[in-house]
Amino acid sequence: MSLETHELRKAFGGVTALDGATVSFHEGKVNALIGPNGSGKTTYFNCVTGMIRPDSGRVTYRGRDLTGKAPHRIARAGLGRTFQLCRTFPRMTALENVLAAVPQGGLRSAKAKGDIERAMSWLTRLGIEHLAESEARDMSWGQQKLLELAGVLMAEPETVLLDEPAGGVNPALLDRIGALIRELNAEGRTFVIVEHNMDLVMSISDHIVVFDRGRPIAEGPPSVIRSDERVLGAYLGV
Ligand code: ADP
Repeated sequence: MSLETHELRKAFGGVTALDGATVSFHEGKVNALIGPNGSGKTTYFNCVTGMIRPDSGRVTYRGRDLTGKAPHRIARAGLGRTFQLCRTFPRMTALENVLAAVPQGGLRSAKAKGDIERAMSWLTRLGIEHLAESEARDMSWGQQKLLELAGVLMAEPETVLLDEPAGGVNPALLDRIGALIRELNAEGRTFVIVEHNMDLVMSISDHIVVFDRGRPIAEGPPSVIRSDERVLGAYLGV
């Protein structure tokens, strides 16, 4: 197991967002976290990555307790993440955006040169190297999502959490993102993906966890999840 949570709870005022979420994600796999709107997926990501502190429960990564740790400590432990609403610096170029992901990047020339080469190779890998000198704000939504991912990969995370990688992305790019996730996974990276596009989830995931009302109600490979009655019930509200 890679990323695990035990009895994670989080309430906002009277609203219970996480209701004792005990979940294990598999190392070296493409894992998906799905569930209806409001089922707690974003809150879960936020607790796991240190953006918010759970009320109770535990987060462990490769056996290390990360509960309540600051986001940069969690990133240093090997967990990278993207955001649903995509975080880039709009007035910086694509290359500058990726370099901004390196701590103290650009201070010493030898390091900076290596960093620039590495940043360019990530932009190339994601198919946006021709936009290296373009400002992020001039790039399409899908290109900005790829740019954000390039920045995350710059930190060489072992595990990558993606919050709706397909959200708002055109169909052509969607196929590329799916293929890219599988490729990066084949190289050894673990993925945990929150995604609403079921075609994508079913085609790229090895293991799926389904949330309903702040806790998992089913888990397994796509073939099992597709026909699980509890899952259909949660989505259809029956
Ligand atoms: P999902 O990502 O599955 O759509 P969320 O984690 O965003 O679910 O939300 C779970 C529940 O917690 C929802 O009822 C939502 O309205 C509530 N919630 C999430 N964040 C906050 C917040 N900052 N303040 C108040 N309620 C919140």
